[in-house]
Amino acid sequence: MTVTWEELGWQRVAAGVGRCRLPGWDCTVGLVVGEGTALLIDSGSSLGEGGRLRGQAERLTGHRVTHLALTHPHFDHVFGAAAFSGAEMFGAVGIETTVDGRRAREELRADAVRNGLDASLADEAAEVLVVPRHRVFGEWTLDLGDGRRVLLANVGPGHTAHDLAVLVPGSPEVVFCGDLVEESGEPQAGPDAAPAHWPAALDRLLDLGGEDALYVPGHGAVVDAAFVRAQRDALAARFGVS
Ligand SMILES: [Zn+2]
Repeated sequence: MTVTWEELGWQRVAAGVGRCRLPGWDCTVGLVVGEGTALLIDSGSSLGEGGRLRGQAERLTGHRVTHLALTHPHFDHVFGAAAFSGAEMFGAVGIETTVDGRRAREELRADAVRNGLDASLADEAAEVLVVPRHRVFGEWTLDLGDGRRVLLANVGPGHTAHDLAVLVPGSPEVVFCGDLVEESGEPQAGPDAAPAHWPAALDRLLDLGGEDALYVPGHGAVVDAAFVRAQRDALAARFGVS
């Protein structure tokens, strides 16, 4: 039996499209419902959180999560991915270099612990981390059935070297931005960011969604094109690029 978005603490963004803001790092997870299919966007910050999200998504859609798109390889977005090991998994091309291999996993684990994740949860997630089988170079159209097609777009680099956005057509259109856009605080530019390229990534994001789309940031409330454009200009000024 399915439940409403609100009953599980999710926000309905458009018909068959929802998101929830996770505790801890206020990280957004998105869900797009198809015909016997479900696309989850990002996976939570631990294996346990991924498992909880899987259960909620199954209750919301009435079936299992068949597709998982990872917006970028930061622990709060990818550490729950192993809970969806049966799903077709997507990431921007090159993401495998940040989640595969002992050294990459150790870096992710250390970053998670630095940011306050319990060390045992970080150990567990890093150990079972899943490498996306499908790497998106440019754009990838995903057919979720029942006329529902979504576009996975490699719009980076920017927040990281592997930023993937998800465009869900409809009225309104919805763009899941990952951490290229943040509403609840300043966009976070760590050592793996590409500041010089970030404004151009936001230009591509705006090209994708246009003026009337709803933009779902990686952290914070849903925003409009004007907000994204203002953040683009602020980042350009902050990093001294045009
Ligand atoms: Zn991030």
